[in-house]
Amino acid sequence: MTDRLPDSPKNPTAHPSGHERGHERALPDKRTLLGPGPSDLPLRVLRALSHPVVGHLDPQYLALMDRVRAHLRAVWATANEVTLALPGTGTSGMEACFANLLEPGDNVLVGVAGYFGARMVEVAERHGAHVHRLEVTWGEAIPVERAIAAIRKSRPRAVALVHAETSTGVWQDVAEIFAAAREEGALTILDCVTSLGGLPVEIDAWGVDAAYSCTQKCLGCPPGLAPVTFSARAMQRIRSRKIPVHSFYLDLDLHAKYWGTERAYHHTAPASLLYALHEGLELIHEEGLQTRFARHRRNHQALVDGLEAMGLSIWTRPELRLPTLHAVSVPEGVDEAAVRRDLIEQHAIEIGAGLGPLKGQIWRLGLMGASSTSQNVLLVLAALEQALHRVGAGAFPGGTAAAIQTYRAAGSGN
Ligand SMILES: *Cc1c(COP(=O)(O)O)cnc(C)c1O
Repeated sequence: MTDRLPDSPKNPTAHPSGHERGHERALPDKRTLLGPGPSDLPLRVLRALSHPVVGHLDPQYLALMDRVRAHLRAVWATANEVTLALPGTGTSGMEACFANLLEPGDNVLVGVAGYFGARMVEVAERHGAHVHRLEVTWGEAIPVERAIAAIRKSRPRAVALVHAETSTGVWQDVAEIFAAAREEGALTILDCVTSLGGLPVEIDAWGVDAAYSCTQKCLGCPPGLAPVTFSARAMQRIRSRKIPVHSFYLDLDLHAKYWGTERAYHHTAPASLLYALHEGLELIHEEGLQTRFARHRRNHQALVDGLEAMGLSIWTRPELRLPTLHAVSVPEGVDEAAVRRDLIEQHAIEIGAGLGPLKGQIWRLGLMGASSTSQNVLLVLAALEQALHRVGAGAFPGGTAAAIQTYRAAGSGN
């Protein structure tokens, strides 16, 4: 059964006119989004999208930008002046960091522990940087001691890490590595795409010079914006470049002038997306960051306990597991794509497949932002049990009972 939104075009009472029929077939149904992103949108965020578009210099819009910036500083735990939302998804934030902070020939050390570390390498190389890869086997985090040794040896201009590697479900410790990087005079870059809004991110305390995220994972907003924050050191580096940033669109100084007091036109603001981001950040503010992180941890624990009770296992080592993204091992002999197909067709639930070397070996099950609820944990455990049975994989009972027990022990419902 598909759980449709009350204002879905498929609801005949919402769209009685005949000419809407074409849209009925074109627009997608509501899904429960439990993959590696996007995640579910709260109704308030959906409603914010429908507010009238205004011009990018409208005083009301400028006031909204200021509110968004203040909210973003709180979520990033930073006092950075240059804290804003770039147009484009998370990758635009990634590209902005490398395009602005590096000049051709600069050395950069990149931690590669999965798909997104590898993407950083590719982006940095396209911008002409000389990349040293600090590589580990997928499923591992970059060891602190090895990273520090590599920094002292290669003395890079910048050191880049992925905080939450979405391809493996691995969490990376960053503070010590970044402290060593700064001691050597390097700038520090952090990918917070699957962490911001779901687990603690401490930009100032960890000595992060540049960080990027996206709106559609743990912030619970639609895709299309990339929150970024740049330290004073990073801005100084950008402003003393010998050659201008190759990308006009991602030139951070130009964005900073629009978000700052100059309000200089650079691009037409994606107003609707900023309304949605504002609403998503208001929801985070109302919930409280610590409460939100605890919710993500609680639902993570209930999901893991449920999966393990069913006889399934989490691919990622316990001490490295993210609360936002779970790599679940596909049992021997099971057609993982058939299970995902069953989940979407029978329950309208989306989960993700493995990337690269993990294709066919894991499912990626996300509990991010508004998707991280006890309802979704119980739903996906039950649906997975049914789907595994339906594809002929056998019986995997006991998931929901174990999750309920975990919630009961925690004295809480969601
Ligand atoms: C999703 C993701 C990205 C890319 O973000 P897009 O919004 O898809 O462009 C980058 N890094 C990590 C860790 C991600 O999970």
